[in-house]
Amino acid sequence: MEAVRIFGVRFDNVTASEAMRRFIAMMESGGLKTIYTPNTEIIMKAQEDPTFKQVLNEGDLVIPDGIGVVLASKIHHLGLSERVPGIELMGLMLEFCNRAGKSIYLFGGAPGIAEKASEKILSTYPNLKIVGIRDGYFKEEDVWSILDDINEKKPDILFVALGAPKQEKWIHQHKKTLNAKVAMGVGGALDVWSGTVKRAPVIYQKLGLEWFYRLLKQPSRIGRMMSLPKFMIKVILTKHIEE
Ligand code: UDP
Repeated sequence: MEAVRIFGVRFDNVTASEAMRRFIAMMESGGLKTIYTPNTEIIMKAQEDPTFKQVLNEGDLVIPDGIGVVLASKIHHLGLSERVPGIELMGLMLEFCNRAGKSIYLFGGAPGIAEKASEKILSTYPNLKIVGIRDGYFKEEDVWSILDDINEKKPDILFVALGAPKQEKWIHQHKKTLNAKVAMGVGGALDVWSGTVKRAPVIYQKLGLEWFYRLLKQPSRIGRMMSLPKFMIKVILTKHIEE
């Protein structure tokens, strides 16, 4: 199956390498293309926010991030191939940009985070070009100068790290004005790249317990993380989870 719906959110049924093929095709097509990576928390947010659901569903590539999405697919036999964490797809995209000499713009995170992330990214991928950096704490009146800066730098990829739903809505709102080939919402990925937040060790990732590691490290996320058990209960109690 090409696409799978979970509580009305459309996911493209792709493996990481298929997602990369789609991304490379996007780089060659005209106009700005969008990539979103919803997890269970985002699906639950979209239930209360129909505009957000619509924005996600208009994404050009929407991949399943997080173990909950894959579990829901398994329980209801929806046939999703695999989990494709946004941070991993971002890594593959950076690797591609490094090989192809493409340019990126990092937008989001607390002041200083994108700078730190860019140093780390460049030390791993020295051939890619980071043409612009901008933190994610801005006033509404700054939006035009942010757009001007991005459009002047014309990055191949714009990574937007404002958290969900802000980043997806921002990309959607400015889709027609943005001069980039691909825009992707990456949540807390710049925090991870900057070294401020550590990603869970591989063993947690393999066991599908990345959420648990995050909870141990950032117990203040408990409120947000309750969306995972709420999502799973909804998955179990709902007969047809597509709608
Ligand atoms: N953020 C931002 N501007 C805002 C709100 C959030 O730049 O107005 C950043 C925040 O600093 C963090 C990211 O957005 O780097 C959201 O991270 P979170 O851990 O919520 O994302 P997740 O990966 O869980 O979606």
